[in-house]
Amino acid sequence: MRKLAIATTFLLLLLSFIPSVGVAQVKGVYWTSSGMFGPFPMVDLVPSLPKEKQRDVTIPVNMWVIDHPKGLVLFDTGNNVAISDGNCKKYWPAMCDLLKPSQKRDDVIDMQLKKLGYSTDQVKAVITSHAHLDHIGNIKLFPNALHVIQKKELYQAWWPEKFQGRTGGAFVMGDFDGPAREFNYLELEGDYDLFGDGSVVVLSTPGHTLGHQSVKVRLASGQTLLMAQDAIWFKENLEGFPAGLNYSVKDYNASIQRLKMIRDLENGQLFFGHDADQFKQQGAPKWFK
Ligand SMILES: [Zn+2]
Repeated sequence: MRKLAIATTFLLLLLSFIPSVGVAQVKGVYWTSSGMFGPFPMVDLVPSLPKEKQRDVTIPVNMWVIDHPKGLVLFDTGNNVAISDGNCKKYWPAMCDLLKPSQKRDDVIDMQLKKLGYSTDQVKAVITSHAHLDHIGNIKLFPNALHVIQKKELYQAWWPEKFQGRTGGAFVMGDFDGPAREFNYLELEGDYDLFGDGSVVVLSTPGHTLGHQSVKVRLASGQTLLMAQDAIWFKENLEGFPAGLNYSVKDYNASIQRLKMIRDLENGQLFFGHDADQFKQQGAPKWFK
């Protein structure tokens, strides 16, 4: 018995000297919104929506802050600062009446970071889901960060398909021209494990746009968070009513299935890009730890 106790003590002592291998944990994930869009009828965005599910919605513009020991990460930077405080028409002349944004200067990502106690130069990496105006809007506030985007999405942003609109559409050149041309882009062609420890994984989820990507985060608790962004706008899209505005309906459906399967395999929580009910029910803006 005594021998066993000595052996156990020795083993515990030994273990305490072995450095933990590959277990860098995400410290926290903050979920917030770059102001709101709406109100407008949901059917304008989801043409397949049956009449009984139709309602007017005011929707969040989700952005995420991921605090990892190796650096601070943003997932999407929201609407450009220039549309704040009722100044939409100057910067988005063709989109204001449709989207009805209500972004205050305080809602912009730099101010939100400040409120959380971070500065913009602390941001090591900015992951952009896709190059639409409500997701890539403020990359220019992070000139020193590494920008993580699918290579195809960069091409698409600069020269969208004609049916998606080349001027006045959802791709706004001012968001990524000028100095942003020379940023450091990690140009992905598929999935990517950002810190090499499996805790922040970029997932290729095309369909909404040519190079759309989502993010999977594993918290220290072991819980999986899946941020779909515009791969899935609303719960209704998951229930079989596809959104409009897709680059490819085939890829869109495959990406939804992919996210669903990952959610089910890992018992994860799936977050939609613009779901007002989910945002409210979950009590966002909020931290996940
Ligand atoms: Zn969006």
